[in-house]
Amino acid sequence: MTDSGTDHTSVRQQDAEGHELRDRIDRFVRTRVIPREAVLDGGGPAAAQTLAELRGRAQAEGLWALPLPVELGGGGLGLRAYAATAEAEGASEHGPAALGSAPLLDVTMLARHGGPAVREAYLKALVAGEIRTCYAMTEPDVPGTDPFRTGTRAERGPDGGWIVTGRKWFTSGAAGADLVTVMARTHGGDGDREGLTLLLVPTASAGFRVVRELPVLGAGGQYEIELDRVRVPADHVLGEPGDALAIAGERLQLGRTLRCLRWLGQAQRAFDLMCERAATRSGSRGPLADQQLVQSHVFDALLALRTTRPLVHEAVALIDAGRDARTEVGLAKVAAARMLQQVTDSAIQIHGAAGLGPDTPLPGLFRTGRAARILDGPDELHITSVARRILRDHPRPGVAPEA
Ligand SMILES: Cc1cc2nc3c(=O)[nH]c(=O)nc-3n(C[C@H](O)[C@H](O)[C@H](O)COP(=O)(O)OP(=O)(O)OC[C@H]3O[C@@H](n4cnc5c(N)ncnc54)[C@H](O)[C@@H]3O)c2cc1C
Repeated sequence: MTDSGTDHTSVRQQDAEGHELRDRIDRFVRTRVIPREAVLDGGGPAAAQTLAELRGRAQAEGLWALPLPVELGGGGLGLRAYAATAEAEGASEHGPAALGSAPLLDVTMLARHGGPAVREAYLKALVAGEIRTCYAMTEPDVPGTDPFRTGTRAERGPDGGWIVTGRKWFTSGAAGADLVTVMARTHGGDGDREGLTLLLVPTASAGFRVVRELPVLGAGGQYEIELDRVRVPADHVLGEPGDALAIAGERLQLGRTLRCLRWLGQAQRAFDLMCERAATRSGSRGPLADQQLVQSHVFDALLALRTTRPLVHEAVALIDAGRDARTEVGLAKVAAARMLQQVTDSAIQIHGAAGLGPDTPLPGLFRTGRAARILDGPDELHITSVARRILRDHPRPGVAPEA
């Protein structure tokens, strides 16, 4: 940026437009999505119809698929500009689906690593919300934190395609998905660092089966799936065979960061509810807000929110610039997961029994906060890999540096 008045004016104008967009999304989520969360949570035809109505409304208001590429039918908002709105959008778990940004991660990966045939077949339909995808890496019989042990196998078929066999679980959204990205071993043996491949499996393929739903603290949406000699066309590979870990690493960095932005929005919502309750609930000693121990919850929750937000945006900035963001994403992911759990726990505490009952979103937000510390890699994994990376730059006398 230069010192010219013109540049300052255009920066101010961009800021104003960014705020206006964020406010419109915030209004959409608060007035249209949140009041219908109970129906959306319930699933089935009523939820599908409500979601379709919300999507139509988002399109009519010019808010549809904002961070997705223009040439695919999206709004073309860059990652940093989208990040400024993602918190407001993510205040409801259903915000990204209603506003059409939910496929951002899959579209990005498919556009970067899919061949011409799969890009042509799926990208526009994904952005239009006509098809859905899911991602299957974790397996019941091996630790999710150790992908080298992946048990799902894919072998070459006579037509040059792949034949995939295995079982995955905690595959979010598998029951309604049209396409599942499956991590499978195509070469080498158990534990090898090489030989893992990401395959795009149409769920209508013979041999693909949703085995069961796996409720998480009572909520649906996670599934166990089985692939029994599922035939996958040769061109349904992301990148080249053997590229899975590099692509999965890239996917997880963006995916974790997008989740962190949405968790900030959910934590802010819990925080606002906590403050409202503290101000309006009164006993013989006056409002809860006057109690120092209640004030302590408010202070600690605000501190957690405010210290996490810059970490998340630092990760966004590095990813947007195409730079190595592993340390920043690790810090942001652990901080955001802990923060969401802490803020929602405090909000429940200040609500008393009402916080555990059905009349506020707090149980659902708390559940997300608890799961956040495990999904996309548990806290321990991020803590050890960030610390190892930092300590690598501090060689110990007499010890050879790690490879
Ligand atoms: C709500 C939800 C949605 C999910 N969605 C998906 C999805 O869509 N697709 C998908 O593929 N997976 C998904 N998962 C799975 C998730 O990514 C895995 O659960 C996670 O990576 C951990 O793998 P694991 O459960 O096998 O635990 P394990 O790898 O068995 O680890 C268990 C525990 O061991 C400890 N541990 C592990 N490694 C270390 C270490 N290096 N140092 C110290 N302690 C360690 C931690 O306490 C960890 O929680 C989802 C999970 C949840 C809860």
